[in-house]
Amino acid sequence: MQQELRKLPSVEKVLQNREIQNLFEDKGRNLVVESVRRVLEETRQDITNGHPCPPLAVLLERVLLDASTRWRPTLRKVINATGVILHTNLGRAPLSDETRAALELAAKGYSNLEYELHLGQRGSRYAHAEELLCHLTGAGGGLLVNNNAGAVLLVLAALARGKEVVISRGQLIEIGGGFRIPEVMAQSGVRLVEVGTTNRTHIEDYEEAIGDETELLMHVHHSNFRVLGFAEQAALSELVDLAQQHALLVVDDLGSGALLDTASFGLAHEPMVQESIAQGADLVCFSGDKLLGGPQAGIIVGRADLVASLRRHPLTRALRVDKTTIAGIQATLLHYLRQEATEKVPIWQMISLGLEETRERAESWASNLKEFGVGAEVVPGLSTVGGGSLPGETLPTQLVALQVPSPDELAHRLRTGEPAVVGRIEGGRFILDPRTVLPSEELELQAALEQALQG
Ligand SMILES: *Cc1c(COP(=O)(O)O)cnc(C)c1O
Repeated sequence: MQQELRKLPSVEKVLQNREIQNLFEDKGRNLVVESVRRVLEETRQDITNGHPCPPLAVLLERVLLDASTRWRPTLRKVINATGVILHTNLGRAPLSDETRAALELAAKGYSNLEYELHLGQRGSRYAHAEELLCHLTGAGGGLLVNNNAGAVLLVLAALARGKEVVISRGQLIEIGGGFRIPEVMAQSGVRLVEVGTTNRTHIEDYEEAIGDETELLMHVHHSNFRVLGFAEQAALSELVDLAQQHALLVVDDLGSGALLDTASFGLAHEPMVQESIAQGADLVCFSGDKLLGGPQAGIIVGRADLVASLRRHPLTRALRVDKTTIAGIQATLLHYLRQEATEKVPIWQMISLGLEETRERAESWASNLKEFGVGAEVVPGLSTVGGGSLPGETLPTQLVALQVPSPDELAHRLRTGEPAVVGRIEGGRFILDPRTVLPSEELELQAALEQALQG
């Protein structure tokens, strides 16, 4: 072992190598020196554990790899072949060309974010998307915050802090990522009054719970689960009627917040923002990156006076949206205004992708794979919308099923490749769903598959 350790070159010796020196310009000398130290230290450990000292060429190779991968960004591109359109772990909604251009414009230079150009004086960042939100939803006012969890927290804290908020036991949901309605309510400083049962809550249950301390009736969309069988929840319109009799507010947390009718795409009808406003909810909140198909944001629409008081609340400052978010939400909303969302917003393109198109794409992938000598078959399957919307609802699709000795190993290779590819394993086969793969990603996907299958 001592003999092997003596063969290990010094840091200086490695740094004298021309190839290593060539890295200096690109990576910076300090980082290269760090890489050399790290590789030599790891190799020293290996030798101590009984391995022989590798030749210099191998050590140099390791340094090159370390220096080029050590500080590469951890947030990497992923091709989503899972068939789950709004995959929260994979970043929810991909953005349209126009939305990305708007983000770029806002990011690149200065903007009139909080500046009234015609007056030459201070303006409000919240003015930008408001008119558009009102026009599209029929609301009197609109406000953007960081995400919908923040929107719910803000609405409750601003409107009902120290007061009672009545909510059905069937709507005390957890949507994942640590968001639980009862906990958010507690954080906002309201007192939670639960009514009804898990499966059934009637309007009379709300009525009986209303007292002097009651301020607000809360309605929450189930998001990611479905109650079947003997189940009933009071309708939003019933809550609105009851609230009017008692001078209370009604807040609807819609979660996914569709502006288009999912029923026209062969899915169940997902409650729409316009409907909640039309039914008389005082405030409605939803996410920017679920069925709206934009960047992460929390969107609050509703009564103008209430929105104005939210805007003045200190929490709004803490939940403030970035300029790029404002630009991106506005650009995304414009697709709805121009009635081109199904053609331009990626998640709606995916939802509306016909079975025939999924078949064509699956067949072309499968024939490429067959040419490559891999057993690939096109089989019928199901895609889902995901993102806390339409639980249990599916879209028929055509999948590519790969017959490989170890689907787990292939899945691992694809996940760790560049770009990473995530699919799913079903019945011992590795499955790719064309629905969630952007057309512009097809060549990359093919290259990634070939690389992983070769490896
Ligand atoms: C998704 C969801 C939220 C949280 O929204 P984020 O934008 O992820 O913070 C809150 N409420 C409901 C009903 C949801 O579906």
